[in-house]
Amino acid sequence: MPDNFAQTVKQQADILKIVGEYVRLKKAGAQNYTGLCPFHSEKTPSFSVNVSRQFYYCFGCHETGDVFSFIQKIENVSFPEAVKAVAVKCGIPLPKREFSSPEEAAEGRLRTKLIELHEITTAWFEQQLRSPEGALAREYLTGRGLSDEGIAKFRIGYAPESFHALRERLQSVADTETLRASGLFSFKPQEDGSPGPLYSRFRKRITFPIANESGRIIAFTARALESGEKAGPKYLNSPETSLYTKGNILFNLDKARQPIREANFAVLVEGQMDCISAYLAGITNVLATSGTAFTEAQVRLLSRYTKRVIVNFDPDTAGANAAEKSIALLTEEDFEVKVVALEGGLDPDRYIRERGAKEYMAALRGARRIQDYLIDRARQLFPPRTPESKIKALNFLLPHIRRMPNRIARDEFASDAAQKLGIDSALVREELKEAASKRRDSISAQASPLTRAEQILLQAFSSPQKSEIFRVAEAALRQHESDFAKMRADVHAMLNQLGARSEGSDPIQSLTEPAHRTLLARVFVSVHGADPDVSHVEEAIATIRRTSLEQQQRQLRAELQTAERNGSTDEVLMLTRQIHDLAKRLRDLD
Ligand SMILES: [Zn+2]
Repeated sequence: MPDNFAQTVKQQADILKIVGEYVRLKKAGAQNYTGLCPFHSEKTPSFSVNVSRQFYYCFGCHETGDVFSFIQKIENVSFPEAVKAVAVKCGIPLPKREFSSPEEAAEGRLRTKLIELHEITTAWFEQQLRSPEGALAREYLTGRGLSDEGIAKFRIGYAPESFHALRERLQSVADTETLRASGLFSFKPQEDGSPGPLYSRFRKRITFPIANESGRIIAFTARALESGEKAGPKYLNSPETSLYTKGNILFNLDKARQPIREANFAVLVEGQMDCISAYLAGITNVLATSGTAFTEAQVRLLSRYTKRVIVNFDPDTAGANAAEKSIALLTEEDFEVKVVALEGGLDPDRYIRERGAKEYMAALRGARRIQDYLIDRARQLFPPRTPESKIKALNFLLPHIRRMPNRIARDEFASDAAQKLGIDSALVREELKEAASKRRDSISAQASPLTRAEQILLQAFSSPQKSEIFRVAEAALRQHESDFAKMRADVHAMLNQLGARSEGSDPIQSLTEPAHRTLLARVFVSVHGADPDVSHVEEAIATIRRTSLEQQQRQLRAELQTAERNGSTDEVLMLTRQIHDLAKRLRDLD
């Protein structure tokens, strides 16, 4: 995509409006808005959008950039795709040539083609389900309580037993290499090193499409219709492709994201069938973890919509290691986690079929805080009748307590646990308290405030290289390097990096240290109005130099006193001359 097109889009795009589609922003000052950071988990807003400079910055995780990098990160797309997305959002017509490099163009074409292939395949699977061969699959789905509407809503289909039927359907749509990249086919590498012919990956299986956040189908999970060795694994998934990264996707997020936002909580279930049943029963804010542990990317994705979850899987049943890990990660990321354990150990799908949607909703309402749930688990596993079992119960709970990022929540959890386990020994209580305090709340280190002169210089160095204030400040830094070297070390380092950045690049992103980025963002956030003018900059340069010279003067005077006391005449003379020099330079400054 031509660079000037990106520039045009950036000039016309309103970062506030675009970021506002993903983050609830509140006005905080003339040019600033704040909200909860979409890139890390937090309870108090440290994400800031600056309107006049059109950038965003997070004081928590230090993510920063412009409207394009925001879209790149949040939508997980390339730069050209981000420019395109922003242009579309702003109603700016796209130029004919869309991609800047041949590789990007090829990647973009491939992704578009793969989406097309998945769409056609989904429709074809749906058609196969309606065909005579799909009778058994239909029977199975009806048995699971799925209506025709439900099947259509989730675009459930059937992959027939054939090895080649799907390839025949698709071979007029894409070439072999593209089909190979789609993940829809398997192939066995041949002895001559060639990848081997393509055959259908999914055969004799019920197919459930997996969509991305915006509802485009990018992969499948497919359930074997028969059991037994010959049928292969019960569930078979698409491999990772350039469309699909397993750890970045939450099943049903496309349908559930609006309901989750509205309800401000999500119901997490394990299987896709549980998810579909719950959704069709009216619990539309439901997502499936698909039986594997949550990744950080998934937790982050979810935290853009809510930080409250009801987890509907037992974290302690055999093989539920994944569930336990997911809960641990959610707790660590400061989610409010509640747990619902269904009576009789039923999974949500069966529970809804046997007892109805109303009962399931009632069970969700009865969900308990993870803390209470775990304490009860500990009491069940180790009935606290003897001191030994109390210790065991305690050891079961300690890792969970340590995991909570919030200090107050940890203390509360610890004292709750002590009370309910009937622990009255002061020693054990002390141990609990220690465990609770071990994990400190992260308090962001506040750097000492900048002086007005330091702020002005940072502003000057952040302005475009062609501007006069930049040139004045930059020339002064080079000319009086020794004076500037005595200034605050971090600011000095920042000035050097800002001065050396390439023309037109983003000032915050040119800094390598997160602490420096924070400092500069603070300047932008706290200083309102226009950039300083040349006279302000000259004044700031003089102030910095004066401070430096005065500091050198004090140092020389101290050395002079020592020299006088020691009676070293030569040194006294030399130092006196240097002090005179400094005095003259100081006078020249005024
Ligand atoms: Zn952040």
